[in-house]
Amino acid sequence: MYKGRHYKRPLYGLQTGLCNGCNEHFRIQNLHMDHIVARARGGTDHDFNFQLLCGHCNSTKGTKTQAEFQAEMATRRNLAWMDAEG
Ligand SMILES: [Zn+2]
Repeated sequence: MYKGRHYKRPLYGLQTGLCNGCNEHFRIQNLHMDHIVARARGGTDHDFNFQLLCGHCNSTKGTKTQAEFQAEMATRRNLAWMDAEG
């Protein structure tokens, strides 16, 4: 059982260096430990409650639930796709 920051490196390996929000590849120092269930919502510091997010995704997630965050990311992807299509 890992706790807190000690889990960052194994988590980086598990996520193969990808941000869990936008799926872009980042260096480990540019990824942030995020509580999947925010502490403000009763989340714990146990390994299963962490993911790595880039700075941008981390600020997008804030205290949203993972479902809310993923819905927001999906909306953004759709908007980006529509922009690309014109
Ligand atoms: Zn990201």
